[in-house]
Parts: sequence; structure tokens; C-alpha cells
Amino acid sequence: MTEKYHSPVLIIGSGAAGYTAAIYTARANLQPRLISGMEPGGQMTITTDVENFPGFADVIQGPWLMEQMRMQAEHVGTEIFNDLITSIDFSKKPFTAVADSGNTFTADTVIVATGAKARWLGLESEDKFKGYGVSACATCDGFFYRGKEVAVVGGGNTAVEEALYLTTHADKVTLIHRRSQLRAEKILQQRLLEHEKIQTIWDCVVEEIIGDENPLGVTAIKLRNVKTNEINELSVHGLFIAIGHTPSTDIFSGKISMDREGYIITAPDSTATNISGVFAAGDVQDKIFRQAVTAAGTGCMAALEVEKYLSEPTK
Ligand code: NDP
Repeated sequence: MTEKYHSPVLIIGSGAAGYTAAIYTARANLQPRLISGMEPGGQMTITTDVENFPGFADVIQGPWLMEQMRMQAEHVGTEIFNDLITSIDFSKKPFTAVADSGNTFTADTVIVATGAKARWLGLESEDKFKGYGVSACATCDGFFYRGKEVAVVGGGNTAVEEALYLTTHADKVTLIHRRSQLRAEKILQQRLLEHEKIQTIWDCVVEEIIGDENPLGVTAIKLRNVKTNEINELSVHGLFIAIGHTPSTDIFSGKISMDREGYIITAPDSTATNISGVFAAGDVQDKIFRQAVTAAGTGCMAALEVEKYLSEPTK
């Protein structure tokens, strides 16, 4: 039997932004309901070691951190549903969201925290080594490649910034791009091309990631030149995929202001969207920083803005 639920605030998404918003709104007695989506815990659940989330002197695991956030949100009073919102109506209040289970959630305010997904190459070997030498976040995992050789795939701002960042840890960084022209900003290109630790390989795609079984780890990548079909192997310990992210905003399409790439637009220094009472936090509105700690930060901002919004007499 399907149910109908109403709450002052509905949080959609269960990454660092969603859980933080839940912790703050629950502690403000706003009885949040949080819908966790298809991948409870979000992007952090596909990382292994986490060393940059403040508060932990020892290395922690991404999935563990998200489980802790979930439990913390529940302990302070969040009701969490393992469900997926499939349609939403922002045209009138209360806002109405329908879930895959058939349940309907109405709410006076909504915090969208559905995140973004890194784009992957789609290779079987990439799946196998994700978290074991294959990563989509240099800031998160670069530190583990001190004194080693790594490669970055992509030709946009992210790929170039990641390659530059990785030079602070790795001995050698190879940028692999499928064309011979980067789409990154010129200033970044210049820094990349002038960097003594970085080499570039043009017109090549990764065909396969090669590695050891025990312990699981990357040792090399097989590259194919798209012009000549020539195959070469490159020895690396780590491979960073930086071919873009896709924000998880399909269900909001046409219902809320987004940029060309589908990221939700929020007001400066705020999580407010163009719809009064709807807020967005985390990677769904941030294509620059994309860190768990910044997502948590905007989740907190959204919660405080919801609290203020609901306390205003006209709402
Ligand atoms: P982009 O979409 O800009 O670039 C993706 C890159 O990956 C392109 O070079 C593309 O190649 C390549 N690529 C895509 N698919 C594949 C594939 N299957 N195999 C191999 N290569 C592939 O993504 P970014 O994440 O770099 O940037 C996203 C947005 O965020 C941009 O607007 C960017 O400007 C912005 N950004 C801004 C920053 C800043 O201002 N500091 C920092 C980071 C991002 P091709 O060029 O051939 O299409």
C-alpha cells in the first residue's frame, strides 16, 4: 500500500550534502525526511581511503564515513527512506514528490542534494581497479601517489587542473587526450605544457587498465592512437579519469533553473534556487570544488536557510 507523508523539509539525496542538511534540520526540530536515492551515501561510497575529511587523524574509509553520517542523521531525528524520487512538482505548495515505491512526499521546503556522477570510460578493467589505482578525484587520492607515476585522461579544465595538482605528489604525470587540442583555458594549458613533470600524449584513448591481482593495483595502461590504431603500453601506478561529471538533475529538468550542463543554479553566497522554498546543496550545484567537505558545508547552509525561510511569517 502506498503512503503519503508530509514534512516541513524534504531532502533528496544521501551524500555528504544531504546528510549534513538532515543533521542540521533535524536538530532544528524540522522533522526532515530524506530520500536516499539509488546509491545511498553517494560518491564517497566508491572511494576507499579518505584522508582529507577533517576530524579523523587516521585514514578512514569513504563508505564508513557515509554510514556514520547516516546514523548521525537518524540519531538526531531524520526519517530516511531507501527510495528514489521519480517525479516532482515545484509549481505549487506544498511541493509534491512521488517515489519509485509509489509513496508521495509533500513538503513546505525541499533541499535538492542529488549530487553528480563522475563520467567513466566504461572499461571492464576500470571497474575492477576503481579505488585501487583508478580514481576520479586527484584532490582526494593524489596523496597516495607520492614519488610514483600517474596518468590523467581528459582535455578539459578538470583534467589539466588535476594533472597540475598531481605534480605536487607524483614524480611524473602523463596527460592523455583523445585529440591534439585541449579544451581547457589557455592559461591552464600553458602551465601544463611548461611543467617539467608533465608529459602529454595526444590522440590516444585508454583501451585497458592492467594491474596486479594481489594486492589489487594498477601497473600500466594500454593506449590506442585513434589516428594510427597503434597500441602502446604506459607504466603507471595510478590513473585519474577527468572526462567530466554529470549532475543528477534529470527529474528537475524544466522545473528549476540550471546551467547548460545541468547544474542547478543557486544565488551567490546562498543555496537558494529560483524557486522560493527550494534549495540546492553539494555537487548538484557545484562543479568547481566537488569535495565531501564543501558538499557538507553547503548542506549546512541549505539547512540554515530552510530554517530561516520557514520562520518567516509570510511562508
Ligand atoms: P569538460 O566537459 O570541459 O571536458 C571533458 C574532457 O574529457 C574533454 O576534453 C573531452 O574530450 C574528454 N572526454 C570526454 N569523454 C571522453 C572519453 N570517453 N574518453 C576520453 N576523453 C573524453 O569537463 P571538465 O570536468 O573538465 O569541466 C566541466 C566544467 O567545469 C567546464 O565548464 C569547466 O570549464 C568547468 N571547470 C572549471 C574549473 C575552474 O574554473 N577552475 C575547474 C574545473 C572545471 P574532447 O575535448 O575531445 O571533447
